[in-house]
Amino acid sequence: MSGEGGDTFIPYGRQEVTEEDIAAVTRVLRSDFLTQGPEVPAFERVVAAHCGARHAVAVNSGTSALHLACLALGLGPGDVLWTSPITFVASANCGAYCGAAVDFVDIDPRTRNISPAALEEKLRKADRQGRLPKVLVVVHFAGRGAEMREIAELARAHGVRIIEDAAHALGGAYDGRPIGCGAWSDITTLSFHPVKIITSAEGGMALTNDDALAETMRLLRAHGITRDAARLEHDDAPWYYEQHTLGMNYRMPDVLAALGRSQMGRLTTYVERRAALAKRYHALLAGLPLTLPPKDDARHASAWHLYAVEVDEEAAGKTRREVFEAMRAANIGVQVHYIPVHLQPFYRQRGFGPGMFPAAEAYYARAMSLPLFPTLSEGDQDRVVATLREALR
Ligand SMILES: *Cc1c(COP(=O)(O)O)cnc(C)c1O
Repeated sequence: MSGEGGDTFIPYGRQEVTEEDIAAVTRVLRSDFLTQGPEVPAFERVVAAHCGARHAVAVNSGTSALHLACLALGLGPGDVLWTSPITFVASANCGAYCGAAVDFVDIDPRTRNISPAALEEKLRKADRQGRLPKVLVVVHFAGRGAEMREIAELARAHGVRIIEDAAHALGGAYDGRPIGCGAWSDITTLSFHPVKIITSAEGGMALTNDDALAETMRLLRAHGITRDAARLEHDDAPWYYEQHTLGMNYRMPDVLAALGRSQMGRLTTYVERRAALAKRYHALLAGLPLTLPPKDDARHASAWHLYAVEVDEEAAGKTRREVFEAMRAANIGVQVHYIPVHLQPFYRQRGFGPGMFPAAEAYYARAMSLPLFPTLSEGDQDRVVATLREALR
């Protein structure tokens, strides 16, 4: 794409596919197994080792990983799932898939993650009303770890299970430990969609340290069918298998696992590059009428999936929409992450509406994500900054 000035389009996120990745994929295409071969377990081992998790269950999307995680934790009709309103719809929809009610916990305006104070108050109220959630989906927005120490303590005190939605956060760390290590949750889910930290085109993974949860998720990703001789109830013939529960076909093909595994070799350099570019944005954007995302600190080493600024409309004398449109007109692919999930028509039909999560709504009113991906050049980043500076004048 080319703009009026001939400037090339800079998207907000972009994958990198190398010749090495292509070779890894074509090797599988020439092999005996396009799916259900050795690549999926090999990819699972690499991700589990990087994250410090005991088990990794690869599936065909991050959304599938969230669904399996909810099912494994026993979420069903009559239950309640809570998540952040500032996330992709999948973090909430996984509850609806299971027939559970979905509700939200407002964010901390500084971190854009679930506010432990809001969670504490909402848990206390829910406890009094006998309407505690079964599952809390904690999103590590933009790749920065949510306040898991505080959140896990509150959830445990009320018997609430935790899923970390780490679709943005592979390669990040919280409290000195890799996101996905499971120290503060039951299951962590990842996404390998092309805009995320690494890609398998489509794909996702569920990480856990719990043997039983891992086994349930493996069963559920492939129809609920087992061939494990120790588990068969009615026969032991060589062709025999049994369906023990209602599973899905959420399998990841080997072709895509090979791409994901090849990309894992660059995870560390990707996250370092993202962090360096984020630091550069911080320096170059200082003093403009913007609220910048929280910097890394002793507890948080973000994976920097997104660099989301908030436009200070009063100080700028411009609306976010005007700034957004000026950026798009200059061929810069800014985006807004996210429209609060509770304001989506599907959730409005279920009783939600404006004013219910004021911090999330205030953030959304001013938010804009700037381009950030490992192959973004400093020259292109300078063009983003110069265009934004101009748009804010
Ligand atoms: C991308 C994303 C998902 C869904 O992942 P898919 O692989 O696209 O299904 C879930 N949660 C969050 C926060 C995401 O950004």
